[in-house]
Amino acid sequence: MKKNKDFLPLNVENHMLDTQDLESSTEFASAERSSVEELIRQNKEWSAQQSTQVLSDAIPDLLLILNQNRQIVYSNGNCVKFGRLENASECLGLRPGELLNCKHAFESKGGCGTTKFCSTCGAAKAILESLNGKKDVEECKIDRRNDQSMMELRVWTTPVQLSGEQFSVFTVHDISIEKEHARLLERVQKLAILDPLTEVFNRRAFFEAANREIIRAVRYHNPFSIIMVDLDRFKMINDTYGHPAGDAVIKEITRLIQRNLREIDTLARYGGDEFIILLPETGLVGGQKVADRIMQASDEDVYLYKDFEIPMSFSAGIAEYQFELDHDIDDVISRADKELYQIKSKRRQIHID
Ligand code: GH3
Ligand code: MG
Repeated sequence: MKKNKDFLPLNVENHMLDTQDLESSTEFASAERSSVEELIRQNKEWSAQQSTQVLSDAIPDLLLILNQNRQIVYSNGNCVKFGRLENASECLGLRPGELLNCKHAFESKGGCGTTKFCSTCGAAKAILESLNGKKDVEECKIDRRNDQSMMELRVWTTPVQLSGEQFSVFTVHDISIEKEHARLLERVQKLAILDPLTEVFNRRAFFEAANREIIRAVRYHNPFSIIMVDLDRFKMINDTYGHPAGDAVIKEITRLIQRNLREIDTLARYGGDEFIILLPETGLVGGQKVADRIMQASDEDVYLYKDFEIPMSFSAGIAEYQFELDHDIDDVISRADKELYQIKSKRRQIHID
């Protein structure tokens, strides 16, 4: 493409973009740009507003004023920090994605579509909305072209008019740390309720769910049942195939049980080779069917680990919550546990021994 001086941002030689980049950038090549004279005129109009200067420099965020072509005609001093510029005047004529060095602003037509700074979506869309008289707010992730770093931003756009011309006030707040904290919190919350090996609920989360279910059951007089599961001869699996194979079997059994449950059922790892299942709205008869179904599924399954076919079976005992007799969930669990060990010894005689 032939270079067109009017398409270049001012002071471009000082900016991180080089002419090569500008020529290959479809963002630059495809969308209409204001002439340098136009940008300077608009910049002067905004800079003449003393209150704009005073107020915008008091804002800790990046504040940009964009013209109809989505180009910066005015910025507060934070453009230096956000755009890693030498001085604020370098941002004149750039688009926000270019100032922030979003690599997608320079890729295929309209960007790559994965970031909201692509010209067809997100922040760019927000800018267009505001140029059409609407306010908008968006969140976006910037993949910085120069050092591969990521930056997460919240942007606000507000339409404004000056001397009969339409502009957009574009405010950019760096939310990278806020987002990182939110992700960490989510991780910590997950760790607090999930068993790390199987990623189903841990024992503590199970008790919370079960206590809520008791309250619900009493209030609506709905039945619920508990199934206790214990893997058969699991020590032998560990001893024969090794602990990692044992871990893999525990994970496989988790998936096998999950496949045989409804969405409203709660599966948790009770500890070691024991699982516990809460079946809401299910009495003894229905619960027994579930217990039999999962035991049968485990009997029919072998787990392929490396070159070994590991038989993986377990025993399951069930108990229904009894409104008159049970004080708390421990009472139901202890009956399910007794049932489990009776079943285990029966199965031992039939299958194993
Ligand atoms: P039974 O049929 O009577 O249940 O015999 P068992 O061998 O399964 O005996 P038990 O349930 O008492 O033993 C459970 C074993 O599970 C003991 C422990 O070494 C093993 N185990 C507990 N947690 C884990 C784990 O996270 N990974 C692995 N690989 N093994 C575990
Ligand atoms: Mg066991």
